[in-house]
Amino acid sequence: MRQNIVAGNWKMNKTLQEGVELANELNTILASKTLNCDVVIGVPATHITEVVKTVDGAKIGVAAQNCADQVSGAYTGEISASMVKSTGAEYVILGHSERREYYGETNATLKTKTDLALANGLTPIFCIGEVLEEREANKQNEVVKSQIEEALFHLSADEFAKIVLAYEPVWAIGTGKVASPEQAQEIHAYIRSIVADKFGAEVADNTSILYGGSCKPGNAKELFSNPDVDGGLIGGAALAAADFVGIIDAF
Ligand code: PEP
Repeated sequence: MRQNIVAGNWKMNKTLQEGVELANELNTILASKTLNCDVVIGVPATHITEVVKTVDGAKIGVAAQNCADQVSGAYTGEISASMVKSTGAEYVILGHSERREYYGETNATLKTKTDLALANGLTPIFCIGEVLEEREANKQNEVVKSQIEEALFHLSADEFAKIVLAYEPVWAIGTGKVASPEQAQEIHAYIRSIVADKFGAEVADNTSILYGGSCKPGNAKELFSNPDVDGGLIGGAALAAADFVGIIDAF
């Protein structure tokens, strides 16, 4: 059966020292808890090695927020999937809407990044989601379908089974405007149905589909209680241990 997951995305926040402090705080709080979900923190690349050393890996997995679309070589400033893996990270967030919007990531780039992440034993947390105009034009289903088809449908069923999906309506990210539980359930069920059509019911049933976009301790329970919402990808509320734990406690 699929895993429930609460994953934090720290984005470009926190110095190394602040990040280690937050990871340590989270680790201390979670040490005394029995968790009903997997917990992941997506930290800046500069922090991964220290954060991996700081947390109990049995309770907290660490994610990079990106990896390169090239194996190695003359790509100044880039960090390859094998480099990410060598830090001890187990996950990589791919296709976040901020990467798509500000850094021109396309479904084609993300296809390559996914292949490299999988080839290096990383679990991609693969983000999809529509912008406001697409939602207003009722095009959200076709948008997420093409994002998944173009970046992930070349995979074998065994490869796809290693992917975590994160549905993040762009209009809900960092805006305080959260999708209603009904909106989330409707599109998560749709996403699962297209995965089932392509890879079969078993793969679809086992795929974790997270919701992201202004998820907070106050709305997490209602969102996560939907049958097709298997947790959350959390931005702002992942930057304070108490808030992040409040969301983890929703399970
Ligand atoms: C995100 O950036 O993945 C996200 C969901 O952000 P926020 O929770 O702040 O909306």
